[in-house]
Amino acid sequence: MPWKPDDRYSRQVLFRPFGEAGQARIRAARVLVAGCGGLGAESASLLARAGVGFLRIADRDVVELSNLQRQALFEEADVREGLPKAVAAARRLARVNADVELEPVVVDMGPRNIRELLDGIDLVLDGFDSFEARFLLNDACVEKGTPWVYGACIGSTGLAALLVPGHTPCLRCLMPEIPEPGTSPTCDTAGILGPAAHLAASMQVGRALRWLATRETPSEAEVVYADVWEGRFSRVALPYRPDESRCSCCVERRFDFLSVETPQTAALCGRDSVQVRPLLPSRPDFAALAERLRPLGTVLANEHLLRFRTEEVELTLFSDGRAIVKGTTDPAKARSLVARTFGV
Ligand SMILES: [Zn+2]
Repeated sequence: MPWKPDDRYSRQVLFRPFGEAGQARIRAARVLVAGCGGLGAESASLLARAGVGFLRIADRDVVELSNLQRQALFEEADVREGLPKAVAAARRLARVNADVELEPVVVDMGPRNIRELLDGIDLVLDGFDSFEARFLLNDACVEKGTPWVYGACIGSTGLAALLVPGHTPCLRCLMPEIPEPGTSPTCDTAGILGPAAHLAASMQVGRALRWLATRETPSEAEVVYADVWEGRFSRVALPYRPDESRCSCCVERRFDFLSVETPQTAALCGRDSVQVRPLLPSRPDFAALAERLRPLGTVLANEHLLRFRTEEVELTLFSDGRAIVKGTTDPAKARSLVARTFGV
């Protein structure tokens, strides 16, 4: 039988609550995948395969060997080429579904740029790995009225919830303050199983597809939770009661995280690495830097980044001027290594 263009989505169109109308709505939808690691890479893949019309994929990192255990979108060649995750994801997904408009953005999302990244977006998929980033996303989404799907995974567990400003509690209704550092497990301390990440992303995309295909506004936040090791699943429904809530974000409309100065350095989750924030007024000259550094260590340069490696450390400089220093968790040491190596 010859291949027909409408074969591609036939199985999800057959699913009755979805149907042709759902497919048409998904085709018109514009989605931001915020962070393209364990959660975001899987979400981006499921959304592109489902036929979401436009996907903006924003991430600050490069693909590393330790990602391949659970991030099925990436492969060894991406690691060898030193590709940023957003670029590697878009390259792969363009081969999977040419109908989808893909916009990879290699960027560290922060108060300066988050409004711009939300521009023209119907829904955001949370692919972040820190509470700070999620609180920032929550502020930006509540301010703009953009729904987002919260997702998290740790160890053998994952959870997801669709949060729609004005209709469900926001993240700060559920968690008024960021937990104190060291009080909650991270992928640094507790690790992560591949199926837990995939399940959390699948639960997120399940919420996302339902909302995009039906535009049925929920009246409560459903938090779905799963443990792939214990085989345990649960669901908690949290109604929205703005009259009783004193949420500083969605009730008082104080967007604290949109006005926080981004620190110049930040330790990165799970990777013995520190990110040093933009130091350069313009795009670095990778060719000239590569020339100068080649006698001193191993250099990899492409259009997106320059990586310099010695026996002790590895430094990656991105085109937006950020650097990631691997092999230390000490911000002062990272700053000084960047200054010494790149002269900035
Ligand atoms: Zn709230």
